[in-house]
Amino acid sequence: MFWKPIPWKGNTGTSTPPVVAEKSAAATRQDNSLSQSTHALVNQTQNEILRSYETETKAKFDDIEPVLKKILSQKQRVDFIRWANAELYSHIGVTLDEDEWELNNSSNSQFVFQNIFAKVVFKQFLAMSEDFFLRDPLGGQRAEEATRIFRDAGIHAVGVAPCADGRLAHFVSYVMRLPYTLARRKSHAGAMFDVSESVRNWVFTEHTRFREGLPNSADEPTRYMKMAVYHFSKADPTHQGCAAHGSDEYKAGSAALKKLNDFRQAIENRFGANSKVETFLIGVNTDDDSLKFHIPDQYGQVSLDRFMDTAGMYQATMNLPAEEAMVALKDAIDFCNKANQTTLPRPEIRDLIAWLIANNFSQIAYVKSYESGCYDDIGHAERFIGIGNGFEEVQLRNLSYYSYLHTIEEGVNDVDVGIKIFKGLNVKKGVPIPIIIRCDYDGRVPGSKTRAVEKAKRLEKAVQSRYHELYACGLVKTMGTLRDYTGFKPAEKLRTS
Ligand SMILES: [Zn+2]
Repeated sequence: MFWKPIPWKGNTGTSTPPVVAEKSAAATRQDNSLSQSTHALVNQTQNEILRSYETETKAKFDDIEPVLKKILSQKQRVDFIRWANAELYSHIGVTLDEDEWELNNSSNSQFVFQNIFAKVVFKQFLAMSEDFFLRDPLGGQRAEEATRIFRDAGIHAVGVAPCADGRLAHFVSYVMRLPYTLARRKSHAGAMFDVSESVRNWVFTEHTRFREGLPNSADEPTRYMKMAVYHFSKADPTHQGCAAHGSDEYKAGSAALKKLNDFRQAIENRFGANSKVETFLIGVNTDDDSLKFHIPDQYGQVSLDRFMDTAGMYQATMNLPAEEAMVALKDAIDFCNKANQTTLPRPEIRDLIAWLIANNFSQIAYVKSYESGCYDDIGHAERFIGIGNGFEEVQLRNLSYYSYLHTIEEGVNDVDVGIKIFKGLNVKKGVPIPIIIRCDYDGRVPGSKTRAVEKAKRLEKAVQSRYHELYACGLVKTMGTLRDYTGFKPAEKLRTS
């Protein structure tokens, strides 16, 4: 062993990593050849791909307001529509139909701007959806390796329940570097996922294993994994933490943990003690995307006070070759529990955690190299609100505030939080809040699409009526969308007639 754990007082919460290096001769030799700035476990090629996707996609949303203002100031041009579409296409990559430019609308120019702004945002979203599903820019449709790694750890399916906060929207594809097709994501304000809904999803997953042997046979002793993801800000803990928990990190973490324990208990109570699920509790520092990874004990129980700080581990393993860094990570995970006089995680779970932490190292390096180690927008900077289900194509930080819900009544708190955030972001400068409603359907099931259409219409109406004051003055704009989730098809716009 090249790493020797040091006695580690108390729990964690300190920035001191739980290990000190006692480097091997090989590691020392490699120190000279390894760049100090690049961790051996970081996937730099992937970072470059993810970065160009992020900057290009966000720019296409951020440029809408200035580009449109410039275009609309030239309304007197005789060739306005042709010229405006050429301008719009060259900057944003979309065009509007002739009547969508509203040349005959005699309302004041601000009102017209609001209408056109929303139309362009919605078109941009549909273009992004098409790009995401048809061209797979993040490689999220290639899940073989990750599936194998989870299966080796005894996991056959993964459900992720992050907070709806836009600063966690990239959790799957960026922070954890997981293929979106592997990790089923449902976001709620404060990570307050619905336990009954999770139980139903578990039943569906187990039934498919039993009847169809997918993703693996029900005979195999594997488990369903649920990850709950809360968040905090180290730089501004009392203001930039989780809005749903009053920026109180302890409250956010303990509420997510309670949900996980309730879910585990619900499965055992309802389906017997042999029905076990695996649970992970993860806290994200939204300043730099490092994690508090709560380490489970032998029985899978996690505790708020027992976690690994991935930023500390990144530094502590900085100069090691990849293989030794992985060994160090696994040792440190075990030591985290030893130091807390708790049983060790099962070896296969420990190895999975080490792999996930190594994945997170790539994201830590991403923020270090592209954001100077801390995001400029440590607060909210979302571009639109997404409500309903699905939205797999949204995998970027702060692109959208997303809330998973079936009815406005059930998700009203989530949507209210989103509206409050957008009052600060958009409404105060006269820019409307774009709200995209999404209802996925199963193209194999008769009537599924019709029901999705009805649901989307219902949700859209409910949004318009709940926020009627903003809606009436053009400051809330909505678009219903549908998607057949059985393949890689893009979102389709809901016809309004
Ligand atoms: Zn939150």
